[in-house]
Amino acid sequence: MIKFDKAESMKSLDDIVYDEMIPAGEGWMHPLLKGQVLRIIDLEGNQGLDFLCYDLHNPEDHYSATQTIINQKKLYINTGTVLLTESGKPLLKMVADTCTCHDTIGGACATESNTVRYGHHTLHMKTCRDSFIMMIAEHADKYSKADLVPNVNLFAQILALPDGSFEFLDGISEPGSYVEFEAMNDTMILISNCPQINNPCSGYAPTTNRVVIWDK
Ligand SMILES: [Zn+2]
Repeated sequence: MIKFDKAESMKSLDDIVYDEMIPAGEGWMHPLLKGQVLRIIDLEGNQGLDFLCYDLHNPEDHYSATQTIINQKKLYINTGTVLLTESGKPLLKMVADTCTCHDTIGGACATESNTVRYGHHTLHMKTCRDSFIMMIAEHADKYSKADLVPNVNLFAQILALPDGSFEFLDGISEPGSYVEFEAMNDTMILISNCPQINNPCSGYAPTTNRVVIWDK
């Protein structure tokens, strides 16, 4: 099990400037300006959430798992992790985390991987990649499918094994667990609240997540 120390936030929900629910299986795309803080709350627990980010003013400069992993010398992200872009620009810093189980390697679920892993009967099921594409389509003036790159997995437990493979395990995220990211530069956030029901990422029963934002 991957587990880092929990780091609670001192921020009060009384001061938020934005509040939105992301229903199970839906996406969300929203800017986070430099100095703003985004909290993502796993309301019912054990709900995987796929996460990408972009330089708001240069969307081609997207989150880079490679840059982020090399910079911090580990596969998992926790409090203090800085998410870097392909060019090495810092976009977000994780400033609070009460779940402590998030990775850079599991990727987003997709129709293709579902049918290979779980069988052809999963062909019709919605996936994170579908939600990503639907959100991108609403911003088609600046984003395209080419901007969908390997993402961060929040609130899911994906374990890297000594033989180099990885395994989806039951989540450890408790109801009300949250992470907070502070924007180090103007950033576009892209989220898929995972609809997966074929592995334990969302406890086989996806649930709603909440996102709130504080101003600088
Ligand atoms: Zn998914």
